[in-house]
Amino acid sequence: MRSSIPFFILAASAFSSAIVLPTANDPQILSALTTNTKSSNAEEQRLIQLSPFETRWVTEEQKLELKRQGRNFMDITEHPDLGLQNAIATATAQKKHITFPEKPAFQDTIKPLLKKLNKKNIKANLEKFTSFYTRYAKSDYGRQSSEWLLNRINETANAYPGLELAPFKHSWKQSSIIARIPGRTEKTVVIGAHQDSINLFLPNLLGAPGADDDGSGTVTILEAFRVLVQYLAESGTQLEQTVEFMWYSAEELGLLGSQAIFSAYEKEGRDVVAMLQQDMTGYVEKTLNAGKPESVGVITDFVDEGLTEFIKGVITEYCDIPYTLTKCGYACSDHASASKAGYPSAFVIESAFEDSDKHIHTTEDKIEYLSFDHMLQHAKLTLGLALELGSTKQWTESKGDKSGGEL
Ligand SMILES: [Zn+2]
Repeated sequence: MRSSIPFFILAASAFSSAIVLPTANDPQILSALTTNTKSSNAEEQRLIQLSPFETRWVTEEQKLELKRQGRNFMDITEHPDLGLQNAIATATAQKKHITFPEKPAFQDTIKPLLKKLNKKNIKANLEKFTSFYTRYAKSDYGRQSSEWLLNRINETANAYPGLELAPFKHSWKQSSIIARIPGRTEKTVVIGAHQDSINLFLPNLLGAPGADDDGSGTVTILEAFRVLVQYLAESGTQLEQTVEFMWYSAEELGLLGSQAIFSAYEKEGRDVVAMLQQDMTGYVEKTLNAGKPESVGVITDFVDEGLTEFIKGVITEYCDIPYTLTKCGYACSDHASASKAGYPSAFVIESAFEDSDKHIHTTEDKIEYLSFDHMLQHAKLTLGLALELGSTKQWTESKGDKSGGEL
């Protein structure tokens, strides 16, 4: 990081006249680059980003207060340069623009596999995952829940020897996890959920079962992963694209785990062609009580339009319920980290955002409020998307500024 500072500042000033670079031009971000922020006392100042153009120094307690008020943000203290290479590529018209397939094309393979998704597995995994007192990322419980998850993924993938499974370690106790299914190419499709939970009142003391947020997303993608690797092992198939399942740590602390991963990916020049985040996949009560149809909430703000359009087609093709379009604001989950790195990213949630689960971030975020049938629908979407984009042979890619270079 230290050796990259001169280049960073140089790059920021070189392109500042050609493009608005909120990250690179912000004096607070530049100061974060040169400030040692490793200390961990309560008064430690953290730099948060509340929108593409708004940053602020706050304490950990102020972060919690913002979250209690429903404000989302990225804590960019450790990765203030995430998105820099994306910004430069955009400014120099080198940014890659991907055109996604017009519609799903692998029904013959995927439809029989959907029947293998089993909500009993989803339920058993969620019961165990929510039995940890909390999955707060800085706690020993959070470390233990992550170790259990890693073992569970490993057991689930037993039949598939090609898998590369590893924890992605952080400076806090709970690791993120990446399960990589190598394809014929390095082009990578990412399926994500976050594994940590939080009690926003006293995170170090109070329990946080985090059944919906985001235990539900964690076990939903795990079940899709199970059926996918079993299919690949039994049929001897290698996908065209590499597919990576990721379980992020510390989403609740400002998308810390996903920023660390996508910052590394951006620096390594990884070719991520699509990223889908699922954060809360199990609560439908409010939707049904309002007399609305159960549906998958497709987020339309701060996401890649082309990928989101394709996901709508995947839901229509492979799910038994429709989708509804909804918004959740800036940095509302880990797809924001991938998006900042320049990767096409999307987000789906259990319902329209206003009908989503209000028990989250408390001791009341429990399994008893959730629908495993609904999680199964999200698992169908996940398996459908992973196999569709994993199998696509022809990608239309062009360079230019069509994406607008969102930061
Ligand atoms: Zn969440």
